[in-house]
Amino acid sequence: MRRDNWDLGRSPVDFDATNSAPPPATTGRSATERSEHVCVIGAGAAGLTAIKNLRQAGFGVDCYERETGVGGAWNWRHDRSPVYATTHLISSKPFTQYPDFPMPDSWPDYPHHSQVLAYLERYADHFGLREHVWFGTEVTRVVPVPPEAGGGWDVTISGARGGGADRTQRYAAVVVANGHNWSPKLPEYEGLDNFRGEVIHASQYKDPAQLRGKKVLVVGAGNTGCDIAVDAAQQAARCWHSSRRGYWYAPKFAYGRPADQVNDLVARYRLPLWLRQRLLQRTLTRVVGDLRRFGLPKPDHKLLETHPITNSQLVYYLGHGSVTPVPDIARFDTRSVEFVDGRVAEPDLVVLATGYLPRFEFLAPELLNMDAEGRPRLNLHVFSPNFPTLAVVGLLQPDSGIFSLMHWQAVMVASWLRLREQSPARADQYWRSHHHEFNRRFTKAKVKDSTRHWFEISHIDYLRAVQKALDELEPAA
Ligand SMILES: Cc1cc2nc3c(=O)[nH]c(=O)nc-3n(C[C@H](O)[C@H](O)[C@H](O)COP(=O)(O)OP(=O)(O)OC[C@H]3O[C@@H](n4cnc5c(N)ncnc54)[C@H](O)[C@@H]3O)c2cc1C
Repeated sequence: MRRDNWDLGRSPVDFDATNSAPPPATTGRSATERSEHVCVIGAGAAGLTAIKNLRQAGFGVDCYERETGVGGAWNWRHDRSPVYATTHLISSKPFTQYPDFPMPDSWPDYPHHSQVLAYLERYADHFGLREHVWFGTEVTRVVPVPPEAGGGWDVTISGARGGGADRTQRYAAVVVANGHNWSPKLPEYEGLDNFRGEVIHASQYKDPAQLRGKKVLVVGAGNTGCDIAVDAAQQAARCWHSSRRGYWYAPKFAYGRPADQVNDLVARYRLPLWLRQRLLQRTLTRVVGDLRRFGLPKPDHKLLETHPITNSQLVYYLGHGSVTPVPDIARFDTRSVEFVDGRVAEPDLVVLATGYLPRFEFLAPELLNMDAEGRPRLNLHVFSPNFPTLAVVGLLQPDSGIFSLMHWQAVMVASWLRLREQSPARADQYWRSHHHEFNRRFTKAKVKDSTRHWFEISHIDYLRAVQKALDELEPAA
């Protein structure tokens, strides 16, 4: 892999001016031709910042994106985009944006999903990233090449819509940025197969018109489930909202400021966790009130022990009687749903807002050190413990916005690859001391053990760890 030599490896744009298809097989190029480059998989928020930071560190980059545009989850034109018409950020602008590319001052605290896409498109244009992306190109296989055969990674790509022959290119390093909010996690319930009503996963929910005039049961109290319940409160004939446990529902604003900014202000005083939890819980109880008044169960955990739910409107609609809270589902019948407290509802439509699971079908599980459940165990949620040139960007579930964290992850990957080139001995030393640290947690809170919290971090604890890594990866003066 060479640095500071932009012309050595040909940019993908050289092969196809429209950049909509991978280099044709007729070029006769061998699998080794990109072996000085880094391959980035995915051109969502994580992939874009990976391209940008690797390029700025001097690396040649090829990015493969199976869709036809940048933006990943925020590109509502993509089949797999999980956003719906009413999606707004739940993390405020300053806590979401990349540190070197602010969102416009004229935008609201919580921009609409179309603005987030516009932001990512502007980021891609500003830093000239699109020319490094092969759109409509899916990565189907990534295999390590043994050192005796030259090392690196053989990446197999194919046309995402089934077009074009498979093709394998060799790369020095691979950065996986394929997102973890596109593959639905589907629950199992007794009798669900016999239920005659309509059942969809939240990934199929695009517009409130889908709810209009129907009796709707929304399952799941994550941020998406709460948003859909709020849409149903305004559109549906009836709305039940099923949650397994009591949660804390933070409003989007407190003391006139976005709630994450208030939280961060408290965190900056470096108070012990128990005191922060007590202060924030007291604020919530004062601002939102006792949720039992609205028919919700009391939270069975302290604040920050589950992924934060930020929604000002759910409690409002509960208070209007437009949403009926119900507990977990016991079973389905042909026309009805029975809840664990014995109540019964007869919905026309059930929306399963039960989350998403990460998927890495193009990689053998051991490459990402996956456990039996399919959870990658990575150092700093980035580095594969046994494969120094394989990294993941974006595999985080933070208590804040994520773009700035992805940026720092990408800077760290670039710094690591640079150190390997410039000071192999120091890189080796760094690797020996850190590669096995894949069980580290980046939050002091006792976070619930569920797939939803596999990658849960406190952004402050995580950024401190990344800062430390960056200091260590700095080449000696
Ligand atoms: C409803 C909703 C609301 C959210 N709200 C917020 C918020 O308020 N703040 C926040 O910070 N985050 C929020 N998020 C999280 C959101 O996922 C991140 O903001 C961000 O979009 C993740 O970016 P990513 O690049 O990691 O993944 P993605 O955006 O999913 O991008 C991954 C890209 O990789 C491509 N890809 C995948 N596999 C392959 C393959 N094999 N070959 C080629 N290409 C591939 C995909 O097509 C996609 O373009 C929200 C998520 C959802 C679902």
